[in-house]
Amino acid sequence: MPSANAILPWLSKIDANRWYSNFGPLLQDFEARLAGRFARPTRVVTSVNATQALTLTLRALGIRAGTLCAMPAWTFVASAHAVAEAGLTPWFLDVDPQTWMLDPERVRSDLKCAPGPVGAVLVVAPFGQMPDVTAWEQFQAESGLPVVIDAAAAFDQARDARIPLVVSLHATKVLGIGEGGFLATEDGALADRVRELTTYGFNGDRNARRQATNAKLSEYAAAIGHAALDAWSEDRRRFQNTGQSLRLGLAPEPRITFQTGWSLHWVTSVCMIRLPGLLALPVAEALDQSGIDTRAWWGDGCHQTDAFRDCPRTDLTHTAILAQSSLGLPFAQDMPLQDVDRVCEVLKGVLKRL
Ligand SMILES: *Cc1c(COP(=O)(O)O)cnc(C)c1O
Repeated sequence: MPSANAILPWLSKIDANRWYSNFGPLLQDFEARLAGRFARPTRVVTSVNATQALTLTLRALGIRAGTLCAMPAWTFVASAHAVAEAGLTPWFLDVDPQTWMLDPERVRSDLKCAPGPVGAVLVVAPFGQMPDVTAWEQFQAESGLPVVIDAAAAFDQARDARIPLVVSLHATKVLGIGEGGFLATEDGALADRVRELTTYGFNGDRNARRQATNAKLSEYAAAIGHAALDAWSEDRRRFQNTGQSLRLGLAPEPRITFQTGWSLHWVTSVCMIRLPGLLALPVAEALDQSGIDTRAWWGDGCHQTDAFRDCPRTDLTHTAILAQSSLGLPFAQDMPLQDVDRVCEVLKGVLKRL
């Protein structure tokens, strides 16, 4: 997160403007800077977090309430909460064992035995690795089903798409403002509808055009966003350097693998490794005994949480294997090199013993 000193000049602008929320100049400029990251004309609509942005995007697409939303079981539980809040029922599908994502081919065949009418597909970019956007654009065009990408962790790789993307700006993500998120879309009408949903259904006057909520970001959040964007290229380089040090330290143990291109072609705020066999739990316990903390970020998968246990699902073999063979290592852009070395040495030792 940006330091207080880096945020201060932006906060002073708020004092001068005397404009504190409701789409003030800092928020408008922040959205313009985010939109400027896309090559084609793209609208950015900020909101209080990515979970809300996903819910409001699904609502704005006018998907029939009560229909199924096909989505991966291998995701953070926020994806399912967003789907349920939009009045849809999560239908958990298995992911591809290599990419950890839904595969359009496989979803096409899953759709043939859907347990009810399907209203939408939510594709997740796991830990920030983007799916094949072109393949999903084709899928949407062919199937007629609206596709939304939960690109919560994919700030770095979120790129031009004819399908809506939602990115998180949570403190744990690669570009953080504390709490926040945004929709990026080339569909201006969709952007307008989502904007209305974030501000009581208002659009230019005080008439509530539709039942909505309040999910706006204040000027203070935008100030942090500007400071975060100012630091982004340096931060990105540091994430990349730390990640490459970790890759180098673990290179002598080829049984440990990373997401394709992680810290090489794209960066994210977490380090997810894949272990041989189903060793995630024993490795986590052994690391813990050496004082090294780890995270099973997505637990056993969304479908195994109390809230979503009763939702329909397909066979989830790959999800179950992923949950038992992947692990989040300590990772930060400013992680000291001796900490990187220690994690690598201890982890290699643990794997030799198991
Ligand atoms: C972080 C995350 C979210 C939630 O984002 P918030 O901004 O915290 O609401 C949703 N989906 C995925 C895949 C995430 O990683």
